[in-house]
Amino acid sequence: MPNPLDDAKVYTLADLKVWETLRPGLPPSLAVLGHPVAHSVSPQMLNAALKELSKRHKKFENWRYFKFDIEPERLSESLALFYEKSFEGINLTIPHKIPAVALVKKISNAAKQVGAVNTLIRTKDGGWDGENTDSYGLDMAVKESLGLKVIPMHVVVLGAGGAARSAALQCLREWGQDVWIGARDPVKLNIFMDELKSQEHVHGKRVHGFNLNSPPIEQWNDGVLVINATSVGMKISDPTPFDVSNLPRDSYVVDMIYRRDGSTSLVKVAKERHLLATDGLSMLIWQGFKSLGEWTGISPSAEIMMAAACAALGLPPRHA
Ligand code: NAP
Repeated sequence: MPNPLDDAKVYTLADLKVWETLRPGLPPSLAVLGHPVAHSVSPQMLNAALKELSKRHKKFENWRYFKFDIEPERLSESLALFYEKSFEGINLTIPHKIPAVALVKKISNAAKQVGAVNTLIRTKDGGWDGENTDSYGLDMAVKESLGLKVIPMHVVVLGAGGAARSAALQCLREWGQDVWIGARDPVKLNIFMDELKSQEHVHGKRVHGFNLNSPPIEQWNDGVLVINATSVGMKISDPTPFDVSNLPRDSYVVDMIYRRDGSTSLVKVAKERHLLATDGLSMLIWQGFKSLGEWTGISPSAEIMMAAACAALGLPPRHA
C-alpha cells in the first residue's frame, strides 16, 4: 500500500489498473488528473482537510486523495476505471477540463455555461456528474484574499482558455461588470468573444476584446481588476504576462498562477506599484474547498488546507 503521507507521488494508469493491490479493499479514494500533474499540491491540501474531517466524521477515516498523470487520449477509458476502483470524486486540471464535458452524465448549469468541468462527482448508477468550482474559487480569492468588497466596473481577463472562460462568466453573471478579454490569438479571441456576447444581452454588460500586445489602457481611467488566466508565469523563465506600470492607481491584480518560490512576477511588479495583488493559491484553496464539499456534503477547513498547501510549496503561512 502506498504511504498515504507520500502525497508527492505521481500515479499512472498502470497503477490504477492494479489499484486493489495498492489500496486493499478499495476504500474511498479521490484524485486529481492532469498532464502534467507533478507540480500539484492538491494531495497535500486535500489529505490535510480529510484528516481534519475524519476527526469530526469517522466515515472519512480511510478516504485519501492522489494525483494521477493521465494523457488526454486515455481520459475516457481512465474515467471508467476510476469508477470501477471505487473513486468517490475527481478533480481535473490541464488539459482535461474541456474534453471531460463530453464524458459526464449530467453537468451543472454553471459548468455548462463555462464549457469546462474541474470536479466529477460519482453517480450511483455508473459514470460521473460534472461541476465547475473554479468560479467559486476566483470569487472567494477576490473577496477574501484581496478583500475587495466593491469590484471595479471594468475587469480585464488575460487569456482565452478554460480558466479565462470561468473568470469572464463570473464577471458577467455574478459580479455584473464589463469585461475586457486580452488574448494573443485573434481567431481564438473572436470565438471567445462570440460566446460571451450571448451573455452580454442577458446581463446588460459589455464585452470587449483586445490584443495582448496593445491593451487599451486609456479606457480604464477608473481602475480595473486584472485577472491573469494565461499560463504565462508558470515557468521561472516566463516573462511577466501584462505590463501593470501604466494602470491607474485603483487597480487590482489576481494572478491565477502560484509558485513554489514565492510570488509570481506579475504579483511582484503589481505590489511594487502598491497595487493590491494576489497569486492563485487562494483560488486553489477555495476551488478545492468547494470540490471536497461536493464529494462529502461537509465543509472542510480552508485554513488547514491553506496551511498544508503553503507547507508543501515551502511558502510562509498565509490565511485562506
Ligand atoms: P488553457 O486552457 O491551456 O489556457 C491557457 C491560455 O494561456 C490560453 O489562452 C493561451 O493562449 C494562453 N497563453 C499561453 N501561453 C501564452 C503566451 N506566451 N502569451 C499569451 N498567452 C498565452 O489553461 P487554463 O486551464 O485556462 O489555465 C490557465 C492558467 O490558470 C494555468 O496557469 C492554470 O494553472 C491556472 N489556473 C489556476 C487555478 C487556481 O486554482 N489557481 C485554476 C484554474 C487555472 P493560446 O490559446 O493562444 O495558446
